[in-house]
Amino acid sequence: MSQVNVTLPDGSSRSMPAGSLVRDVAAAISPGLAKAALAGMVDGRLVDLAYPLEHDAAVRIVTDKSPEALALYRHSTAHLLAAAVTNLFPGVQCGIGPAIDDGFFYDFIVPRPFVPEDLETIENKMRELADEDLVYERQMWPREEAKAFFAKRGEPLKVQLIEEKTEGQKEVSCYTIKDKETFIDFCVGPHVPSTGRLKAFKLLTTSAAYWKGDAKNAPMQRIKGTAFLSEKDLKAHLTQIEEAKKRDHRKLGRELGLFTFHEWAPGAAFWRDKGTVLYNTLANYMRGVLLPNGYVEVKTPIVFNKALWERSGHWSYYRQNMFEVQGSEGEEMAMKAMNCPGHYVLYSMDVHSYRDLPVRFHEQTPLHRNELAGVLSGLTRVRQFSQDDGHCFVMPEQIGDEVERLLKLVQRVYDDLGMTYTAKLGTRPAEFLGEVETWNKAEAQLKTALDRAGMAYELNEGDGAFYGPKIDFDITDAIGRKWQCATIQLDYQMPERFDLKYVGADNHEHRVVVIHRAIFGSFERFIAILIEHYAGAFPLWLAPVQAIVLPIADRHLAYAASVRDRLAASGLRAELDERQEKINLKIREAQLQKIPYMLVVGDREAAEGTVAVRERSGGDKGARSVDNFVASALEEIANKGKATVSA
Ligand SMILES: [Zn+2]
Ligand SMILES: [Zn+2]
Repeated sequence: MSQVNVTLPDGSSRSMPAGSLVRDVAAAISPGLAKAALAGMVDGRLVDLAYPLEHDAAVRIVTDKSPEALALYRHSTAHLLAAAVTNLFPGVQCGIGPAIDDGFFYDFIVPRPFVPEDLETIENKMRELADEDLVYERQMWPREEAKAFFAKRGEPLKVQLIEEKTEGQKEVSCYTIKDKETFIDFCVGPHVPSTGRLKAFKLLTTSAAYWKGDAKNAPMQRIKGTAFLSEKDLKAHLTQIEEAKKRDHRKLGRELGLFTFHEWAPGAAFWRDKGTVLYNTLANYMRGVLLPNGYVEVKTPIVFNKALWERSGHWSYYRQNMFEVQGSEGEEMAMKAMNCPGHYVLYSMDVHSYRDLPVRFHEQTPLHRNELAGVLSGLTRVRQFSQDDGHCFVMPEQIGDEVERLLKLVQRVYDDLGMTYTAKLGTRPAEFLGEVETWNKAEAQLKTALDRAGMAYELNEGDGAFYGPKIDFDITDAIGRKWQCATIQLDYQMPERFDLKYVGADNHEHRVVVIHRAIFGSFERFIAILIEHYAGAFPLWLAPVQAIVLPIADRHLAYAASVRDRLAASGLRAELDERQEKINLKIREAQLQKIPYMLVVGDREAAEGTVAVRERSGGDKGARSVDNFVASALEEIANKGKATVSA
């Protein structure tokens, strides 16, 4: 019998009979590993334990300690869900069931929509199937046979998936749970070896969905759930979900009067006055960060002729995401979905000397992306948004310094907002444009910049954009959720397409490098994150209303108005509650509006020229002179995030 040579992660190797399974490798290493094994990495590819080794290969056994384990678990749980649903609801048609960031889902076409009680029944069935410890078996089916099989079962969506995903293949992989009567699905895999491995899972919601997320397609029902490698992790996640519900920016946005939506403008927010104050405060804050650091603010057109998009390449690979419009002469035009091409055009209209570089453009004008209606959600998935966008045009040798400068800005902004973050360096992907040597040089410069800025980072090999390496940042919010926001991307390709150059000291023309960068990313999405991070209780500098004056009785109105005017004259955003309501009700409502300071005024305060200061958290700071309050409020605003504010 022929042998294959298996190389293990510690560098050792062993000879195994050809056709040995990944499971056999685990068993050969130790009985403990055989028991813990969930899947294998064979030459960098995640496979089932039953995967046969026909050639020499590098093999790593995946256990619940491996980075791949969670997604594997979740996707396997999605199959378990589909098995339970098809057993309980005959005639249901299965769509797709991927693992996602915080769990998994499966989409179904059902005779009637699911109701919350169904979730309990389905979850119980899943536990039953898990207790039986049924095997996930990979079967290779002739492609046409698989299509005929699913067609006969009344599963045209599976037939469509096989057609789309396996073109040119003779055989396709299907997975059963126990046997094909119990459950069968077309899937490339892999999965955990058996259902008994799945313990810590929970179904969460049912919602309307569409095949492929497109409202023009068949309506479906999505069941979302989550799964973890331990009960403890699951419990922590469920607690976080409860907390997130209370902080939901859509709910708080409504309650705090920040923004709203209308069916006539899907995915485009109406910013109410308070939300507009918040938006503008952040926009001006970002100007205050960027303009003293060498940026200039520009405004470029919203609608461009398709010639621009053809030049940038968007017309061929991004057109379906852009709103197309027609000019009065019948010109084909599209609304910009990003600022980059406009900035290239603007840059190219002037001659630039090496002495002028870097040139740094900042722009906050609206962008539009024609997102599918089905995926629009609050401020996090919208069709209209603005970014704190910027492009730096640099000489290749300036990349390191420029990125280091950028890293400091990122640090400063997240410090100001009291958010922690992690950096990830994405390097050359499998498919890339340009020369390997250019990539290596650029990656080395990014690493040096990260080291010099003293910033710890994770290395994501192969995660760069096809046009250049990048650094992405995940921020962690107050309840431990991670959000990707800031990004720094090097681009060597667009300068070629748009012929972007500078005149060097040698009097010759040279190519610039473009750095795409954003710190907030989309203002809309970032505001959603901030609302949930602060649970609507913004720090003083961001609060749409910073203080409200609450007169105890009508006779205190004149004095209260003079206090409000005094605050406004100092630049504070202050309101006056003139209603003839009881003071306790006024206080309670101001607290619900999460206004940082309530200034109660009655006989004594009017006589002494003071205000009785209450915090929204319920703290009573006693009587202070108006001047004293104004001075301390202005100091707190200047301190930004360093003055911690609790919900
Ligand atoms: Zn699968
Ligand atoms: Zn860009």
